[in-house]
Amino acid sequence: MEAPASSCHARSPQEVLQALETTPAGLDEIEVERRRLQFGANRIPEGRKRSLVLRFLAHFHNILIYVLLASASITALLGHWIDTGVILAVVIANAVIGFVQEGRAENALAAIRGILAPRTVVVRDDVRRTIDATELVPGDIVLLEAGDRVPADARLIEGRALRIDEAVLTGESIPVDKDASPVLIGATLAERRSMAFSGTLVVAGTAKAVVVTTGARTEIGQISGMLASVETLKTPLVQQMDVFSRWLTVFILSVAAGLLAFGVFVRQMPFADIFMIVVGLSVAAIPEGLPAVLTITLAVGVQAMAKRNAIVRRLPAIETLGSVSVICTDKTGTLTRNEMVVATLAASGGEFLVQGVGYEPEGAVLHEGVLTDAAQSPVLDEFSLCAKLCNDAALVRKGDAWCVEGDPMEGALLALSGKLPTNQPSVARTFTRTDAIPFDAAWRYMAVLSHDHANHAFIHAKGAPEAILAMCADQYTAAGETAPLEEVLWQEMMENMAAKGQRVIALATRRVDPAQTTLAVEDLDRKLTLIGLVGFIDPPRSEAVQAVAECHRAGIMVKMITGDHGTTARAIGGMIGLRNSRDVLTGADLATMSDADLAETAMHVDVFARTSPADKLRLVSALQSRGLVVAMTGDGVNDAPALKRADAGTAMGIKGSEAAKEASELVLADDNFASIAAAVREGRTVYDNIKKVISWTLPTNAGEALTVIAALLAGMTLPVSPVQILWINLVTATTLGIALAFEPTENGSMLRPPRPRNAPLLDGELLWHIILVSILFVSFVFGMFAYARAVGHPVELAQTMAVNLLVVLEIFHLFFIRNIHGTSLNWKAVRGTPAVWMAVAAVTIAQLAMTYLPPLQRVFGTTSVPLFEGVLIVLAGTAFFALLETEKQMRLTFRGRLNVGSTLSPAGLSTDR
Ligand code: ADP
Ligand code: MG
Repeated sequence: MEAPASSCHARSPQEVLQALETTPAGLDEIEVERRRLQFGANRIPEGRKRSLVLRFLAHFHNILIYVLLASASITALLGHWIDTGVILAVVIANAVIGFVQEGRAENALAAIRGILAPRTVVVRDDVRRTIDATELVPGDIVLLEAGDRVPADARLIEGRALRIDEAVLTGESIPVDKDASPVLIGATLAERRSMAFSGTLVVAGTAKAVVVTTGARTEIGQISGMLASVETLKTPLVQQMDVFSRWLTVFILSVAAGLLAFGVFVRQMPFADIFMIVVGLSVAAIPEGLPAVLTITLAVGVQAMAKRNAIVRRLPAIETLGSVSVICTDKTGTLTRNEMVVATLAASGGEFLVQGVGYEPEGAVLHEGVLTDAAQSPVLDEFSLCAKLCNDAALVRKGDAWCVEGDPMEGALLALSGKLPTNQPSVARTFTRTDAIPFDAAWRYMAVLSHDHANHAFIHAKGAPEAILAMCADQYTAAGETAPLEEVLWQEMMENMAAKGQRVIALATRRVDPAQTTLAVEDLDRKLTLIGLVGFIDPPRSEAVQAVAECHRAGIMVKMITGDHGTTARAIGGMIGLRNSRDVLTGADLATMSDADLAETAMHVDVFARTSPADKLRLVSALQSRGLVVAMTGDGVNDAPALKRADAGTAMGIKGSEAAKEASELVLADDNFASIAAAVREGRTVYDNIKKVISWTLPTNAGEALTVIAALLAGMTLPVSPVQILWINLVTATTLGIALAFEPTENGSMLRPPRPRNAPLLDGELLWHIILVSILFVSFVFGMFAYARAVGHPVELAQTMAVNLLVVLEIFHLFFIRNIHGTSLNWKAVRGTPAVWMAVAAVTIAQLAMTYLPPLQRVFGTTSVPLFEGVLIVLAGTAFFALLETEKQMRLTFRGRLNVGSTLSPAGLSTDR
């Protein structure tokens, strides 16, 4: 088999199929397997990764580390080997932790990229199925539709209104019209209109094509070699913190220089002594571990969300998700199960009830309580034929269950067609589709032109009743004859079905001249015969009902935006528990409103029906103009602009197109509304944890540094020696600091209103916390040191007690920070997480070793602490904790009073009505 890649565009589809030894019915599995061995997976090889050594060394490339390394060399020159050793240990520990955690974070992202791997529809053995795009081989027949990324280079066999955006390949931003007719052999890439190239985006139409080349041999594979872009773990917040810590470093170094001068010139201290103090002080004050810990916090969040089926495509979205204040969601499949079953048919002879479960094409059809007889209701033949022909789905049997390949609604129609009694057995088998107008959310119908072997031709159309009724001139009677269209009657029947929450579509048909081989919109205009209406049941997801309630409690508005009919939407909105399911705005209503009116009305209307993708875009902007942070869901290629515009664009993982996914921040692996709510909860948790990490690190560093500065300025003996300060940094920054990244969601996190857009991270409250904790640290450490000296302990013991107290304070501070929003005095708070206990255990062991092991005693100038003094240290820690907690409770009570009004908004607005 020879892949004629360079000339395919100039040959006819038949020639290409022949050359590739395949047919429009596709390859069989054995042949696919053989070709996979020959050609390999359809994957573009990734760019070479940085080597492990380089990645490890990169963690030393940082001004802070340079400062530390410089200090280490100076201490070495001064002969202070111990200090040199400890500083180097700090540097290496930091690099190792950064390296290991970065690896974990990258693995997490790689796993997520795997979940998002594109899928494609192929025909193999004459059966249509969805597979991973990597499994394609040359000769495979692929089906393309609007929104797809073309999975390999392919020669079109047939194309309908196909337009492809080839910007990635040719740089041309205007989509190109494509069809199956051959072009000149010398045509450039951009002119090869009979080809679809890997990586380009189908923006309209449908096509069937045969794969010519895969993987690295595709045009895009040849030019780029490594398209896979690696996303860095950086969000605006982390970047902000990076910049902040850089300035903080500059600030600390200036203070340190000042102190050095002060020590040498004012206090006349020996240079070596004051230098060691200043180094200890700088190492203590600079939050060297902070960027790494923030990255870990984000990576933990990404993984937690992935577990809840919410895949973050752009990391900054994690932060945005935490502040979402309105979620605009699809109905079908997101709030409902998208497991459709036909329940009723409305024909001009009356209603038929359809029974059966799932997609099994078996079940009774009742008319006025009795089984229907095909001979008495010839119109059922028309229902059956239309349902079957105007359909792109397939039913496949998996064991005992029937599954849909394609649109669930169309699957339900196929099942219906199997249930309907018929006068002409297997009528549809002899039809072939000649042309089609594919479904589009903007016009809400689909139509096909089919020919049978007896030289008859028919148009079949299905879609939203308004759209179809407008195309009809007459209707079928119960007896199967035609009669004038009774529009009012149909409207009534439609409303009745929709009021029960059923999704209603209309079916219509018309016989045409067999010479006709193309289908245009003009062929439909007022020329069809209405067959009747079909009502589908699509029950709400129970988890969506709970998730909507959770969002409401969290002060988040939930709005349903659907292409479905207003009455159906209202009924489902009521079942789901939307705040206001009485008022419905339709696309037509929106068209008459100004942007300002829309912004006003959109605040209290929760159901939007018969909307088009353009309406979604307007709605996002309208809500954003009210200062809301908008999450918007979408699936089609036309939803991309609204998804891009939304603060948290959310694409459906299952039914969503590649185009929608690429425009989104978030992809829902299960298309489920509950997953959006879970993502918001995780987003809030990540933000809380970032804040906690910062709230723990900054005051701890400031407290340690102030202790040294205060002693130096007052000309006292240092309560903690420089090498001891270095030790504390080494031990706590790599343990306690990281524990907070793994904090679970706080109880009240979904009971709080959303954080306002752009709320500053370092707010007044955090500043106050830093000041308060630093002062408490200094007072407690000096107090303990002074006490030890007063009762006659030697300096070594007094310093050992101070060091241990400092660490104990840090541990208590950690427990305090864990529950910064509530009280820390309950069982859940005290129990902690494994990460916290591991950190505390590690630190405790380290402290015991430093205090009691003779070799370490010699290095750090410590001595054993007697039991009584040990107890005293822990008691001091408890007192510190009690003080902090009391202060917090006082502040929370006070703030609770002040904020009663504002916590109700913005969700409060819709309850007022
Ligand atoms: P939703 O917001 O519920 O996902 P859609 O935009 O998918 O709505 O569909 C809007 C309307 O278009 C439906 O109510 C139905 O009347 C019609 N429709 C949907 N899918 C098809 C289809 N495959 N063929 C014909 N009409 C369809
Ligand atoms: Mg839809």
